[in-house]
Amino acid sequence: MVCGVWSIDHGAWSTASSPQCAVHGSSCTVHSAWSTACGACQTMGRLRAAAAGIGRRPQPGTGPAKRSSGRCRETTAPQRGASCPAPAQPSAFHLFVDTAEIEAFRTSLLAWYDRCKRDLPWRRLAESEPDVDRRAYSVWVSEVMLQQTQVATVMDYYTRWMQKWPTLQALADASLEEVNALWAGLGYYSRGKRLQEGARKVVSELAGRMPRTAEELQKLLPGVGRYTAGAIASISYGQATGVVDGNVTRVLCRLRCLGADTSSPPVTEHLWGLAHTLVDRARPGDFNQALMELGATVCSPKAPLCAECPVRPHCWAQRRVEKELEVASRRLLGKAPSSCPPEPDIEECAAGASGSCPLCPPALEPWDGSLRVANFPRKAAKKQPRAERTATCVLERSGRRGEPEFLIVQRPSSGLLAGLWEFPSLLVAPELKEKQQREALAGHVRAQTGTAVAAGRLRHVGEVVHVFSHIHQTYVVYSLLLDGPRAAAPVKREEEPELPASRWVTKADFQAAAVSTAMKKVLQACERQSREEKMPRTVSTSAWARPVSGTTAQHVSALPCVGRAGGVSSFPHAQGTTCLLGPPGHLLFCPWGLRP
Ligand code: SF4
Ligand code: ZN
Repeated sequence: MVCGVWSIDHGAWSTASSPQCAVHGSSCTVHSAWSTACGACQTMGRLRAAAAGIGRRPQPGTGPAKRSSGRCRETTAPQRGASCPAPAQPSAFHLFVDTAEIEAFRTSLLAWYDRCKRDLPWRRLAESEPDVDRRAYSVWVSEVMLQQTQVATVMDYYTRWMQKWPTLQALADASLEEVNALWAGLGYYSRGKRLQEGARKVVSELAGRMPRTAEELQKLLPGVGRYTAGAIASISYGQATGVVDGNVTRVLCRLRCLGADTSSPPVTEHLWGLAHTLVDRARPGDFNQALMELGATVCSPKAPLCAECPVRPHCWAQRRVEKELEVASRRLLGKAPSSCPPEPDIEECAAGASGSCPLCPPALEPWDGSLRVANFPRKAAKKQPRAERTATCVLERSGRRGEPEFLIVQRPSSGLLAGLWEFPSLLVAPELKEKQQREALAGHVRAQTGTAVAAGRLRHVGEVVHVFSHIHQTYVVYSLLLDGPRAAAPVKREEEPELPASRWVTKADFQAAAVSTAMKKVLQACERQSREEKMPRTVSTSAWARPVSGTTAQHVSALPCVGRAGGVSSFPHAQGTTCLLGPPGHLLFCPWGLRP
């Protein structure tokens, strides 16, 4: 036999002459076409290239691999024949190669999941929905919403989404405006748009039938990557394929002491290989959710609950902590280092010790005892978001019934916040002075909406900061109350199709429209300023520092102040102004001018 590709999933060799899974042949559901579809099989090939001969394949008689023997057997390290070249493999330290251990891991994790899993709406739906396309669609929606977003935030959005569009057909029939409106506040708005594009594609090109494998899902649906495809396929169809998200990455890095940059290709591929190896063949969807749940609720980034962890016996990071503690305590007690290694014997990565393993922590980043298991994974240096300044104009007019109305315009259909509505806004250079900023903004409003705005009348409200994933955006907010009961009603003109759509909306319409969280903050800043301007300011300077006997307690209780008096203190009113109180019984200054 000529050695081909090492299958991390089956711990066996695929042969060049028989390009299927070496264990199950062409009937293998995981490796039915290893040359194109099996991430696990390919992983080793890529790792081999990345390691370039510096990794170490398990040697007979050492580490976990020594428990098995024979050729091309499950969980058995390969026996190299004379004609087999020796591909570099990662150290067994970074792998799961023991069938019994893998089985025990799956059993412990699934038992814990059955006991402790959170009750989440998408899980209920996936478990109860008999129609496979509807089930896949419901999982797809949840997985897309959960990308970059907390579970607690997603729950309400998910419930409203599935009530409004319970099927692919319903979503395909919706307008992008409706999708954006429901998505408003969830962030990363292109996700909603791509979901709808995907639904339309399934309805119009695939006869309403969701692709049935992870490979097809990734290939055919816009915005569906390796993770989402694996999650849909495993949860909805029971395909035995692993998934790797941020939580799984953290858990796997700790389980097998992967300390290199998790975004590097060797680590990424290795993680996918481990995920494919571990996934339970009978309950792949539950297993994948369990691994993610473990990362979210137990193996958390900063304060993992190792004492409660169901897979603690399989965790090398935890073993490392125990070993370090033992060494430290022996040193403290003046004892010689123990000659007995911890059980079971974990042979560490030889290449890592020499600083040449692509999976071990870099040699320059030694173990930090204070971090304990959180030594894994190492974080890649975070790219700083770029800083931008945008001048924004909140134009207000009096509506038909006297209620305030605001002018909003629609953003372009591509790029950041595509298709969302906003107050007329203009990106400005950081060095632009206020006068030039006003003029530029007034010109922009005029050009975009046809509404004449005098730069000098724009009122400076303040600055609002909003951090997008890659942009630190500062909105310099101006406002203007237009004269007359129904001032300027600009609409998109037919002869000027390049102008964005614009409309006047009430506050309620604004809140329900497809506007970003940043724009809601801008409106809040304007409202805050208006409230402060309306506050009574009747206190005379003579009231300053004039003791007013017996006022404090009543004053505090009569006004929306917080705190108690004692020495000279300041108490913020709910309205944002500040009340100064002197020693007990002495009101120094109240901007409301109120007295007991
Ligand atoms: Fe994570 Fe601790 Fe469990 Fe290891 S033992 S997987 S570090 S929670
Ligand atoms: Zn290593």
